[in-house]
Amino acid sequence: KKYVYFFGGKRAEGRADMKELLGGKGANLAEMVNIGLPVPAGFTITTEVCTAYYKNNKKYPKELEPQVKQALAKVEKIMGAKFGDKKNPLLVSVRSGARASMPGMMETILNVGLNNETREALIQKTGNPRFVYDSHRRLIQMYSDVVMEKAAGIEPEEGKGVRQQLEKELHKMKEARGYKSDTDLTAEDLKELIEIYKEKVKEVLGKPFPENPMDQLWGAIGAVFQSWMGKRAISYRRIEGIPDDWGTAVNVQSMVFGNMGDTSATGVAFTRNPATGENYFYGEWLPNAQGEDVVAGIRTPNPINEVGKSEHTKDQVSLEKGMPKTYAQLHKIQRLLEKHYKDMLDIEFTIQEGNLYMLQCRVGKRNGPAAVKMALDMYKEKLITKEEAVMRVQPSQLDELLHPIIDPKAELTANVMVKGLPAGPGGAAGQIVFTANDAVAWAKEGKRVILVREETNPEDIEGMRAAQAILTARGGMTSHAALVARGWGKCCIVGAGAIKINLEEKTLTVGDITLKEGDWITLNGTKGNVYVGELPMIKAAEENPDFQAFMKLCDDVRKLKVRTNADTPEDALRARAFGAEGIGLFRTEHMFYGKNSEEPLFILRKMIHSKTKDERINALNELFPYVLRDVKGTLEAMDGFPVTFRTLDPPLHEFVPNRQDEREKLAQALGISIEELNERADSLHENNPMMGHRGVRLGITYPEITEMQVRAIFQATAELMKEGKKPYPEIMIPVTCHVNEIKHQYQLVSKIHDEVASQFGLKKIPHLTGTMIEIPRAALTADKIAEAAQFFSFGTNDLTQMGFGFSRDDIGGFLPEYLEKKILPEDPFQSIDQEGVGKLMKIAVEGGRATRPDLKIGICGEHGGEPKSVEFCHKIGLNYVSCSPFRVPIARLAAAQAAV
Ligand code: ADP
Ligand code: MG
Ligand code: MG
Repeated sequence: KKYVYFFGGKRAEGRADMKELLGGKGANLAEMVNIGLPVPAGFTITTEVCTAYYKNNKKYPKELEPQVKQALAKVEKIMGAKFGDKKNPLLVSVRSGARASMPGMMETILNVGLNNETREALIQKTGNPRFVYDSHRRLIQMYSDVVMEKAAGIEPEEGKGVRQQLEKELHKMKEARGYKSDTDLTAEDLKELIEIYKEKVKEVLGKPFPENPMDQLWGAIGAVFQSWMGKRAISYRRIEGIPDDWGTAVNVQSMVFGNMGDTSATGVAFTRNPATGENYFYGEWLPNAQGEDVVAGIRTPNPINEVGKSEHTKDQVSLEKGMPKTYAQLHKIQRLLEKHYKDMLDIEFTIQEGNLYMLQCRVGKRNGPAAVKMALDMYKEKLITKEEAVMRVQPSQLDELLHPIIDPKAELTANVMVKGLPAGPGGAAGQIVFTANDAVAWAKEGKRVILVREETNPEDIEGMRAAQAILTARGGMTSHAALVARGWGKCCIVGAGAIKINLEEKTLTVGDITLKEGDWITLNGTKGNVYVGELPMIKAAEENPDFQAFMKLCDDVRKLKVRTNADTPEDALRARAFGAEGIGLFRTEHMFYGKNSEEPLFILRKMIHSKTKDERINALNELFPYVLRDVKGTLEAMDGFPVTFRTLDPPLHEFVPNRQDEREKLAQALGISIEELNERADSLHENNPMMGHRGVRLGITYPEITEMQVRAIFQATAELMKEGKKPYPEIMIPVTCHVNEIKHQYQLVSKIHDEVASQFGLKKIPHLTGTMIEIPRAALTADKIAEAAQFFSFGTNDLTQMGFGFSRDDIGGFLPEYLEKKILPEDPFQSIDQEGVGKLMKIAVEGGRATRPDLKIGICGEHGGEPKSVEFCHKIGLNYVSCSPFRVPIARLAAAQAAV
């Protein structure tokens, strides 16, 4: 079996589409070689080895060693140097590379192959002893930490790790010699330091540092595989939903050196700006630096070109100015890469003495606004098709656009406390915390927090997740914090250099302002501004022209209609602005709540506490004008689109007032004693109200309630027709389980229709009468029910509740544990259970359409705005989904993606 894939020279054995086997990094390195870019030669050990390693008690398949040897020989031939050779040594990096990118989560070790012998040869070869000693000491630092300590499972006390101990030695030496910075260390100093390091490693870890290059190589390979099961990698996978059994690949690649002097450099760039989506080459670089210096945020890097400069970085030297020739070459390569991959890429490069090498490329992470802009631009540039454009934005990214920004009016008058780099746009306000653990703990208590760090590292991942936003004092736009925040669409500001953090006292200082833990700050991640205190937020998406244009693309592609759940004319108008094509659920009972006037609710209560039919009809007549007004307003707001009115649904006891004074008022209005009223209220009590006297059952026992509602609907419609409007009501009967229920209500509806029509001199008032499918029996007998129902709408909340037999209001007691123990893969109230509840839906669709081929079918449960559920609805042939107004854009996108 082939476990090792070579890349280098002009040809690679792998390709970009082999990510599963080679990991993202390995596959893309191979692809870059194949399209002729300068990539240092190397080879990739497949993800299958990782899986086999963990299955087989951490042992490699036996074919691995000879295959590695063979590939290494090929690399040596191309590079004209030999790994471990005492005259002409080759050095390599050992790099992790999972299928999905996990920035900074896994280990990479540079300069593997250095020891006292090989380094002398390298000094001869390069004539640059300082650089060689520096590389050697970096190897010992990295290797002893990653391979000898972490991978070996040693967990030292806080601050006692081998890395910190070595750093201490470095400081000691600097202090003794009166040096300020690392670069003051001479070649001789470094040589001495290396020996001190080796002593220290032996002392701390009880093992000598491996001198044999082959031992180093296999140790490093093992460490990469170990890091797949490292704590922080596991926790990252949990958050991102990456399965454990994917495994990582390992890339072994010849080293190139960005730290060989002033004509050497290293950098990270994006083919477009990942924070805004703007189409210009964007990135950062550091002269005379190696490896992760840019990403780690140890030094704040320089902008790559002149357009990328901000007020913040205007005094720094760009690569464009500093090394114009190399920059031109890099610029050409990034254009080529974007054309080849047809997407925005994130690239890593190193320049060794003026020669450019590509070390990585991958599709770049981006936030929501940037994703939308780039999809739209690339479609306009004819780089991608409409369908591809639609697939480029994840529903959760679209969600970011619907997220708040600071109210510009409030921001105008606020004083900027400090400025940083705008790494993740949008606004956020929260209380300051200084550690990831505190962020998690405070967030658990329901507090909104902003995580403030010197710089973030992969251990902070859960705290970053829990925080509203992230603020760092150091690091650039490609630092860890920026990368992660962008991936999540979180507000983030990095490199706010004026901030001084005191971790012990949990305070931060900027000039003469000092803030402590728990103080409020507000971030504008689009501008990079930080403000003291809490500023108000507003939503901004509707005004964004890119957003509107992108939604239009989605509308062109999708087949499903998208409606909204709305109960008031105001909600209806908002949903129209978000692109809703009608209302899929108008809950008639909701219009009695939350109004300026208590009157309608009071009359409704009177109706509910009526005993005789006459009493009830009186109350209903009183209620009529209110219902008419709201129904009419909503139909008018949705002019030209259908509005589905659900007849009264909840059990009546929900409307019984609890307060004594309200009960007394009610008794008075009904002309009965308070005792009598209490008695009537008590008689409404049910043991299991969700399955009690509700929905259509009310419509059958108290037909006058349905009559009043339907009359209001028809009268409103007739009035609007007379005004030249195009109202289109759909009357929906809830909680149906038997066709006879619909037949009964249908007759009622027809009778009222005829009355109102003749009253207005109309032949017909356009409408449909249909039912909700939310009881399993209804789904199973849908063929029968369709004899009387003209449309179906799935009430998937109740269908899930009754399908599972889970009381929606009581799942808190067991569902979390069900999910944790993987009894259920997912919360069925969030995403439709396709296997079970979905099967009921399929049966209902088939049954219904067998009887009535043109049956209109939709969904109005919570699931109607959840992307996976929307896709399912598309697949089983629904006509529309309906969801809350703010979910409408997400449903439009999900529906478009389902259609691609
Ligand atoms: P990550 O997956 O965390 O980005 P990488 O494997 O890309 O880790 O390694 C981190 C950095 O190390 C790279 O960005 C690059 O600068 C440096 N690096 C890796 N391999 C080499 C190499 N062969 N030559 C020079 N630098 C390298
Ligand atoms: Mg990298
Ligand atoms: Mg229901």
